[in-house]
Amino acid sequence: MTQILIPLKQHVGAPCKGIVQAGEKVKRGQLVAEPNGLGANIHSSFSGKVVDVSEESVVLMIDEEQDFSSYVPIPETDSMIKAVEEAGVVGAGGAGFPTFLKLSCEISEGVFIANGAECEALLAHNVKQMSEHIDQLIRGTKYCMEMVKAPKGVIAVKGKHRQLVLRLIKAVEAEANIEVYQLPDIYPAGDERMIVREVMDVVLEPGQLPTEVGAVIDNVETIKRIAEAIEDRKPFIDKDVTVSGRVKQKETVFVDVPIGTPVKTLINNVGGYVEPHGEIVIGGPMTGRSGEETTPITKTSGGVLVAMPFPQEHRKVGLLICECGGSAERMTEIVNNMGAEVVAAERCKRMVEVNGRYRCALPGICPGQAKTVMSLKKQGAEVVMTGSCSD
Ligand code: SF4
Repeated sequence: MTQILIPLKQHVGAPCKGIVQAGEKVKRGQLVAEPNGLGANIHSSFSGKVVDVSEESVVLMIDEEQDFSSYVPIPETDSMIKAVEEAGVVGAGGAGFPTFLKLSCEISEGVFIANGAECEALLAHNVKQMSEHIDQLIRGTKYCMEMVKAPKGVIAVKGKHRQLVLRLIKAVEAEANIEVYQLPDIYPAGDERMIVREVMDVVLEPGQLPTEVGAVIDNVETIKRIAEAIEDRKPFIDKDVTVSGRVKQKETVFVDVPIGTPVKTLINNVGGYVEPHGEIVIGGPMTGRSGEETTPITKTSGGVLVAMPFPQEHRKVGLLICECGGSAERMTEIVNNMGAEVVAAERCKRMVEVNGRYRCALPGICPGQAKTVMSLKKQGAEVVMTGSCSD
């Protein structure tokens, strides 16, 4: 018998509140938790018996036989946006913002952008999805355009995926209002402000939302989950994931992994580790976080990346922090795992404080960092760890 843990916080906002009880039987697709403030519905991705409900998770003893081809459909709704809400769709690119809220706006002179940048290294599931389900991507984009009343849609994808770009251009030939935009092959090409700058030629101020200039942006997997909610009444119970790094079969994309699946199951499915191996990173190499073999896949897990063991470093480390790279906490964790000590930290000079949070003034247009590095050295740093995207 296998236990599966379904986290109650898989989104921006407060953890959901479990609505099932220990001992209760649940089916795949059944609603098990509802928002408690800002959040999104959570459904069971397996059939089984509830063994525990806490503030953090619903724990299931899952049935030995699972039918992943079926699920309890979401209730019929009188609008597309309600279906998105019922299905518990959140930003699958990693942000986790409840999608029905993002789509609850009107941009009658604006543009809806399907974000297919997939700009973190090693990740490949978004490109695979776009390659194999172009029609669904276009239908989903049209649903989103209709919901936000956008007269124009853009599918943004990196120009380096030449074959995919050509196929997308051909596929939208019949769509008068949808275009394909080719993004540069840089990190963070998927940053919302960078996409707005590229596609619309508008520079958003740090802290300014895309809707303020008439843009709504959703990751392409989010659009897949929106299309499934509208067309198939399917709740957001499965996630596309790339597994790579120090595993036997690299860069493997798993499509529709049931949420709650422990990452070790995916690592086993690619032949296990290449030894020696180090930490398991959940997400992309730039913004991922440290995980365990038991860490469950959630609505925002895009990658399971197995790193090499931490090299040992005894020199004093200075941190150079960038908005779109590892946070100061994450980099300090890495430095400590290397056996070293952080003696100084500086932000990239383009970082500005907005509402208590540091934002990049010009994502992807990165300055030289010589001055910042000199300052770290003056503070005693012998080496620098950078979370910045270039230079
Ligand atoms: S300008 Fe600085 S903060 Fe902005 S993306 Fe580049 S390195 Fe990161």
